[in-house]
Amino acid sequence: MSKDDDGNLPTPEEITRKLSDFMKANFGDSVSFSSSVMPGFGPTPDTPDDDGERVDPVEENRDRNIFDFDYHPRDIKSHLDRYVIRQEEAKKVLSIAVCDHYNHAKYLRRLAKSDPEKARQIEFAKQNVLIVGPTGVGKTYLVKHIAELIGVPFVKADATKFSETGYVGADVDDLVRELVRKADGDVELAEYGIVYIDEIDKIATQGNMLGRDVSGRGVQTTMLKLMEETEVNLRNPNDIQSQMQAMFEMSKGRGSKRSTINTRHILFIVSGAFGGLEKIVNRRTRQGAIGFAGEAREVVDEAHLLERAETQDFIEFGFEAEFVGRLPVRVVCEHLEADDLYDIMKSSEGSLIRQYEREFEAFGIKVDFRDDALHRIAEKAAEEKTGARGLLTVCERLLRDFKFDLPGTAISELVIDGDLVADPKAALGKLREAAGAVGDTKLVGEINSFRRQFAEEHGIRLVFEPDAVAAINEACGEQNVNALQFCHERFRDFQFGAKLIQKNTGQDSFSLPREAIEDPDRWLSNLVVASYGDRGKPVTAPDSPPEGSAFTDDLADTPPATPEPDPDETRDSGGFA
Ligand code: ADP
Repeated sequence: MSKDDDGNLPTPEEITRKLSDFMKANFGDSVSFSSSVMPGFGPTPDTPDDDGERVDPVEENRDRNIFDFDYHPRDIKSHLDRYVIRQEEAKKVLSIAVCDHYNHAKYLRRLAKSDPEKARQIEFAKQNVLIVGPTGVGKTYLVKHIAELIGVPFVKADATKFSETGYVGADVDDLVRELVRKADGDVELAEYGIVYIDEIDKIATQGNMLGRDVSGRGVQTTMLKLMEETEVNLRNPNDIQSQMQAMFEMSKGRGSKRSTINTRHILFIVSGAFGGLEKIVNRRTRQGAIGFAGEAREVVDEAHLLERAETQDFIEFGFEAEFVGRLPVRVVCEHLEADDLYDIMKSSEGSLIRQYEREFEAFGIKVDFRDDALHRIAEKAAEEKTGARGLLTVCERLLRDFKFDLPGTAISELVIDGDLVADPKAALGKLREAAGAVGDTKLVGEINSFRRQFAEEHGIRLVFEPDAVAAINEACGEQNVNALQFCHERFRDFQFGAKLIQKNTGQDSFSLPREAIEDPDRWLSNLVVASYGDRGKPVTAPDSPPEGSAFTDDLADTPPATPEPDPDETRDSGGFA
């Protein structure tokens, strides 16, 4: 390796660059240069996983020690309950498996200090877990939150990416090395990490169906070794770059003391949809029932067939007996219905809704998801048949244009209601119009003048929502009047109803939507009726924009004695912006 002018060895980044250039020059684009395996060579330690979510469990629990593990299954389940909706059985089963696994690890470590020989001899069937369940129902989410809670590194991969040799696709051992990377090079911590492999059903061997790889058996055997106990080389022997890194570290005198990692205490969780497994279970249970000719048949509920899957069913599905045998803990994750998707948005701490609120807030727009919108979104998402992933698909499609169009306009509040979900184009059109109207300072000045006069005369504050401003703008154009004249005319009798409501409920501020401009008498008389039934509560509360929005009434600070503003004023501090 050539040194630079100062006699220094090149950095890993320089080596990477040079090797990449060399590969490209000699082999073209068909050969790529992987840099994911070694610490120091990878992109960032906190890379998003397949779902684009950041998985950084170690960060959160860095100061916890896995050997202080003192959780009870109930503790783990209640942590999961905060994030994961439904999947009660899976939460319970995983909580128990995780407690058993880490309590045993803790016990062995203590024993190893007092009686190393005995610790070596103790037999323990590892509680590796097999989760059966469709996509997007929270399998990864469960495992990720468990790892975060207990503070161990967590790695996820799809079984389809693995080949038995490592020449095609990824090497199964890479998963274990990835754990070390997630643990920031802490090999001992990585030895207690969690490896989660999805799409495990794709490495079943029988049936010669599309997607059932013939090398599946080989991959199963390799995984089997990992799941039992083996030493994995910390450096991928097929990866030139990793070898270069080792050389580099050795030359700097900071090479790792360990060259392998032991997999004895790594917890393996595998999952898959296992399409077709129901049929196998059904056949077996029926055969069993028919066996005793004429005797009472067991009726197996279709929906619960998967819960009855046994080792022999998995073998028939295409797994080696030894492989299934290493996965003693099995649980089914349920399919999620529209109501569950609604609950996820409404009550999971990781709800997508919070993400959207934050995203719009970054543009200075306050988003308010109404319940009827959440129900509609949930229904649309359920039609996608991709579990909770459908929520993201639907919201993305629904809100993309709003996120593009609204930032930078006068709109600072977005109410997402059922109508918007049903017809987003129309809703966006109205908002664009409102943004234009709200940006019209002459119009806003006139409306604010009217608001002031109304507040002074009647002690009632009016707040015009953006689409109400747009409606006034349209009407003024049609009638060829200015907004002050229009408002005086349109709200000539408004104070009578408003005062009745004020008397009944104490409400002295009204948030006016478009309908209140189009037909103020009708709009107000509904509220008057409601005010008799609901004394003491503001009748427009559900539709009022929240405090602090651009359309919140800000005349509160206006002293009653404020001189009458010029109706033609174009700049007005009150009201809308
Ligand atoms: P999979 O079952 O395919 O592993 P994931 O766990 O990756 O699905 O789910 C994708 C996303 O959907 C999660 O990150 C989470 O935001 C959401 N999600 C899925 N299932 C649930 C659930 N039961 N409760 C709450 N959120 C969920």
